[in-house]
Amino acid sequence: MHIHEYQAKEILARYGVKVPKGRVAFNLKEAEAAAREIGPGPYVIKAQVHAGGRGKGGGIRIASDLSEVGGIARGMFGTRLVTPQTGPQGKPVSRVLVEESVPIARELYVGVTIDGALGGAVVIGCPQGGIEIEEVGARSPEKIHKIIVEPGCGFNSFQGRKLAMAMGLEGSHIGKGAAIAWALERAFRENDCSLAEINPLVLTFRGDLVALDAKIDIDDNALYRHPDILALRDVEQEDPRDVEASKLNLNFVNLSGNIGCIVNGAGLGMATLDILRYYGGEPANFLDAGAGGSKELIQNAFTVLNSDPKIKGILINMFGGITRCDSYAQGIVDAIREKPLAVPLVVRMEGTNVELGRKILAESGLNIISASSMKEAAQKIIELVQEKSK
Ligand code: GDP
Ligand code: MN
Repeated sequence: MHIHEYQAKEILARYGVKVPKGRVAFNLKEAEAAAREIGPGPYVIKAQVHAGGRGKGGGIRIASDLSEVGGIARGMFGTRLVTPQTGPQGKPVSRVLVEESVPIARELYVGVTIDGALGGAVVIGCPQGGIEIEEVGARSPEKIHKIIVEPGCGFNSFQGRKLAMAMGLEGSHIGKGAAIAWALERAFRENDCSLAEINPLVLTFRGDLVALDAKIDIDDNALYRHPDILALRDVEQEDPRDVEASKLNLNFVNLSGNIGCIVNGAGLGMATLDILRYYGGEPANFLDAGAGGSKELIQNAFTVLNSDPKIKGILINMFGGITRCDSYAQGIVDAIREKPLAVPLVVRMEGTNVELGRKILAESGLNIISASSMKEAAQKIIELVQEKSK
């Protein structure tokens, strides 16, 4: 789950990270009141959306004094902000963060995330932060320093100082930089984050280190033990299909292709996406409907896919282990009888009671195309989708 910048800053401030003086505003009046409360300008007005790259998209604006705050905020509220990370449809701006403007001597980067290849959390530091961080990473990967956090030892004080030095900090700034890295790592661990990032972390001319931006993502599977963070959820920022799928308890990831996928099991889901791509198809989503295979479950999965106009065909790929193929097949048939599909459907099933399952599909009288292997299933649905888009 993503949270907003101002929410991430509130969390980091509790861990001792310095953040600019500021307040979130939900309307014009609140934005102007926030500025008055902060004191004399200049101010920074920041669109609060669940996406980075706002600097490049016009979502970060400086107001030199109070008289400019209203105009800038008016230009943001109610619009959709398009940044390199939002896609062309953008994200709605309903909140802005009004902050004191901080004079910047240097912009740095510090973040904590899970490195799947290394199998653990890593604390990452870079002497060059800011809106070009992706380019820095691509062009000068040697500037990105990673420290692996060993679960048994934790993130040690010498590692924090080493990272601060690798970030180009000197003298008394090293201790301050290390303290921020520790705070960030602790916030990451204690809140079950998948990402905790400060970009830019700025060195001011007075020698302070301040988090000018903050990004925190929480592992969805751990949200049950963080009700305070769950309360920060802003569904307006999420894809409506993701919201629908999460309400129905489906494991759903929206992708850009035109073949809708329904599978039972995450590994099978990954394999399904791979084989579709292998034969030249473009999956529209990952959807793990889990075990079961009741009419309701299949109907829920169809509901999510039906709301997606880019889908031109659906592939169901299921393996019958504990779930039996016949009950899954019955679920599919019942769901379609109640609400017919508008696009072609290919079903590949294997495992317990597969013969019975295929018989139910074949005798249903519905236009369901059966496939006996994953290869055949992928090729059939790709062919049907291509025919449809001719
Ligand atoms: P992002 O583009 O969505 O990551 O938004 P950021 O909050 O990181 O802001 C983008 C850039 O705007 C930063 O890298 C800074 O260069 C600039 N910026 C943000 N806040 C301030 C501020 O208070 N003062 C100044 N001078 N620049 C700022
Ligand atoms: Mn940023």
